[in-house]
Amino acid sequence: MSKYGFAKIERDVSAALKNAKSPTAQEIELPQGEFESFILNYAKQELNEKTLNHSLRVYSYSVAIIKDHFPDWDLDLGVLFTTSLLHDIGTTDKNMKATKMSFEFFGGLIARNLVLEKTKDTDYAEAVSEAIIRHQDLGESGFITTLGLIIQVSTILDNVGKNKEYIHPDTLDFVNRKYPRDGWKSCFASVIDAENAHKPWGHTSALGVDEFRDGVLGNDVNYTKLKI
Ligand code: ZN
Repeated sequence: MSKYGFAKIERDVSAALKNAKSPTAQEIELPQGEFESFILNYAKQELNEKTLNHSLRVYSYSVAIIKDHFPDWDLDLGVLFTTSLLHDIGTTDKNMKATKMSFEFFGGLIARNLVLEKTKDTDYAEAVSEAIIRHQDLGESGFITTLGLIIQVSTILDNVGKNKEYIHPDTLDFVNRKYPRDGWKSCFASVIDAENAHKPWGHTSALGVDEFRDGVLGNDVNYTKLKI
């Protein structure tokens, strides 16, 4: 079951990473399997380019952080790829208009249906869905799946610049040159505002209606190195 991430780990990132080692420089490639190709094509059709690149960065950071700090995990990289590519599927215009549910929850349902239909693998579908539903469920109490934890760590790294101590600057540079982040801050800030405007009851508000958007816009991390 742990290949799907069904193993409990502390939701508190600093507790889960209390034995973190020095990060190493890595160059991450995408998985090449048939199902991963289907998911990549689906994401290319459904997501705008900024969100697609964000999702590919989330996958790449996750692979690097697992390799450096959780070498014992046997989390399947295809499951990680599918989750990364679909984690923001609820933010498309079509899907925002289609529901009154929080975008992560609706996106988790979409992903569950898609993965189950294509793979007939309930564990795979539920693992992806659970991690997407909980990807903004930040906190210091209780537990989460390993898949859910790594998606939280990487999305927060890309959105507000936290957790960068767990990844090597050369890895950040490699990933952000391969999948450029141009315009990502304002793109995601407008998603946060749209979500809170259309679904003021939604889960994104738990991160602070203004604080979360301001944290995204105020992210001043240099993800790429200056070329001299
Ligand atoms: Zn995201």
